[in-house]
Amino acid sequence: MDSLNSGSEQTKETETSDTEPDVVNAQWKAVSESLREEIGEAAYQSWIKPIRVRNIDKGIVHATVPTRFMRDWIVAHYAERIATLWQDEVPEVASVDVAVRNDRAKKAARETIKRQTPPPAGTHPSTSPSSREGVSAALDSRFVFDNFVFGKPNEFAYAAARRVAEADRVPFNPLFLYGGVGLGKTHLMHAIAWQIRQTTPERRVVYLSAEKFMYRFVQAIRESTTMDFKDQFRSVDVLMIDDVQFIAGKESTQEEFFHTFNALVDQGRQMVISADKSPSDLVGMEERLVSRLNCGLVADIHATTYELRLGILQSKVANLKTDIPPKVMEFLAHKITSNVRELEGGLNRIVAHAQLIGRDITIEATQEVLHDLLRANDRRVTIEEIQKQVASHFNIRISDMHSARRARSVARPRQVAMYLSKQLTARSLPEIGRKFGGRDHTTVMHAVKKVEELKTSDPGFAEDIELLRRMLEG
Ligand code: ADP
Ligand code: MG
Repeated sequence: MDSLNSGSEQTKETETSDTEPDVVNAQWKAVSESLREEIGEAAYQSWIKPIRVRNIDKGIVHATVPTRFMRDWIVAHYAERIATLWQDEVPEVASVDVAVRNDRAKKAARETIKRQTPPPAGTHPSTSPSSREGVSAALDSRFVFDNFVFGKPNEFAYAAARRVAEADRVPFNPLFLYGGVGLGKTHLMHAIAWQIRQTTPERRVVYLSAEKFMYRFVQAIRESTTMDFKDQFRSVDVLMIDDVQFIAGKESTQEEFFHTFNALVDQGRQMVISADKSPSDLVGMEERLVSRLNCGLVADIHATTYELRLGILQSKVANLKTDIPPKVMEFLAHKITSNVRELEGGLNRIVAHAQLIGRDITIEATQEVLHDLLRANDRRVTIEEIQKQVASHFNIRISDMHSARRARSVARPRQVAMYLSKQLTARSLPEIGRKFGGRDHTTVMHAVKKVEELKTSDPGFAEDIELLRRMLEG
């Protein structure tokens, strides 16, 4: 059954499958590359690289990983995204199935993982080599206060971060920074760490992602070194844990984190935490941990404004050798609204292009070079908005979108909302099903088919759908 040769990059398959193994491998390569861009090198190395895709059968991608822990983690965090990305390549793909592969492969993979901790050198070109901060992840040299542009949406978080970095006594504990993806949480945390390491090098600052914290913890359990693990973390002066939403629903990691947290706070050490949501909005977080997280200063980083985006672009361009016409920068600030990371990415691509062709970049050229990014930044509709709009259009309650009621009067609008979710968002069928009261992806598939049928047989219905679509996209 398991003919996997875990040492090689491209595993040759001998099993029969719907799709040619080479084709599957090529698709997986494309999907995993996109994912690598999204989640970063370290997470890619830890979780995505060890995945082997075996075959695609009846719309299900069958993949294997070396351990059960990895399987659970990938299922919880990446499987859906992989399915969605795969759908962009092959629309028939509905979901991803992840299984654990045999022992021999497992051993080899475990060695690979070990070699990858701490993160592979070269991911961050200039990092702090201080071995004293052994447990800490590397700091990005660009993420300093001087490079952080502040404006209305982030000035409070910025001020709080500076305060923590400059104070000789803990001003508030913890500092909890939260906000959406790519809005500067990690940047601010690194900036705090850099500044403290510079001004008071005797203080021990440790920065790491919650994902890594969990990984270390699980590793310590596996290797029976939990005492060392505890010692490492309980002897730091400033502990920063990034993206703490990762440990939501992970009970034993939360337990350990809670104790570490309390031990440090009780000793007057500084904690800095980030998450994508406020403490109270973190689903799957223990009550006592939430209340602890709420105890200090909670600082929200809001979505960027046009002015802030333009300011960030200007500051980045000032550090470059290339000239970008103000019109183009305004265009970018106007169009790329999702987050700063994408804005930077767009700018970098423009700069590379300008250097390559050796003349001024125009708005037309920008549109061409960044067409994919610009399209992705076109207004994104959420499933929640669709449910709300459709419910109000058909005069039913929003809760009926999730309910089990099967009466035609609510079932039909629900199907319409599922259909529109499929059409207007990048969500996969299983994701959509989950948002509709935990329904199966086949139910969503059925709804999509049903609505398509009705659209052709009933012009009035088709008009209704068109109207809804325009309202949602408008
Ligand atoms: P988050 O951790 O919130 O997802 P990051 O801190 O990784 O976001 O920021 C994403 C990218 O955007 C980084 O390259 C960061 O330097 C940049 N960035 C975000 N906010 C700002 C800002 N206010 N000024 C300058 N650069 C920023
Ligand atoms: Mg971050």
